Amino acid sequence: MIIDSHTHYGRFSQWGDFSPEFIIDIIGDCVDYAICSNLEGIDSLYLKSELDCNLDMIRVAKKYKKLLPLAVCQVDKSLDIHVMRHLLTEYPQFIGLKFHPECEKLPATSPKYDKYLELAREFKKPCLFHSGHIKSRFSSPALIYEKAKQFPDVPIILGHLSTGPRESHKEAIKILLNSIRTESATLYCDTSWIDFGTGNLEDVILLIKKLKNTPKGDYTNRILWASDAPIGDFNQSNALYRKNLDNFRVKISSYFNDEELLKKLLYFNVRDLYGLY
Ligand SMILES: [Zn+2]
Repeated sequence: MIIDSHTHYGRFSQWGDFSPEFIIDIIGDCVDYAICSNLEGIDSLYLKSELDCNLDMIRVAKKYKKLLPLAVCQVDKSLDIHVMRHLLTEYPQFIGLKFHPECEKLPATSPKYDKYLELAREFKKPCLFHSGHIKSRFSSPALIYEKAKQFPDVPIILGHLSTGPRESHKEAIKILLNSIRTESATLYCDTSWIDFGTGNLEDVILLIKKLKNTPKGDYTNRILWASDAPIGDFNQSNALYRKNLDNFRVKISSYFNDEELLKKLLYFNVRDLYGLY
């Protein structure tokens, strides 16, 4: 079993025009499920409301059973938290929430996130945050960590472990280690974009090594494999997607020689986090 923990569809987004069929074709039979959110509520030429983009996601997930929906939160645009409460109440299919502080141009430390994180706590939904450069004034992992500390019992995923470069990744790893050491937040991260989908996986390997050997023991359960497909040229066909996944398996297996670890990264961790049994 393999689950991709971070994918999208969405028409007329700034990254491309992605139909639901496109992501379904890309993942093909490479993975069993893909956790997905709708870019039409994040950054599209024809931005949909929080209600409409998420209802569309539910309709798509009903048609394509491989897609497990996240509800997109328009923290700065939505004026009524009851919309998200309604969505989570009526559609328990939403397994978590998705936040994009960079697209919203809303610092992750803003109190505006609090109502959403209170809902996440109440409905027991993990929260996937886009995390950007360590110096980003909106989506730096340092800012997300500040917010996560206010909600230590809500699992918060640093999507992409920051958007690089290596210095950003190193800082984000320090933040993860600090949160583990002090038990001040429940931070996870996903591997999308860390080494740009191909290549030597240097920074992913660094991340795994650090989390495997924390003073508190092995915390590699906090790492989720992800692609962020179809965003990024390297993600935009089934052949490329398969190549990236195979590369991940080969590089991680040969470096760590630990099949159990690979299974955790590709499936067990995301299953346990979202309760996908
Ligand atoms: Zn995303």
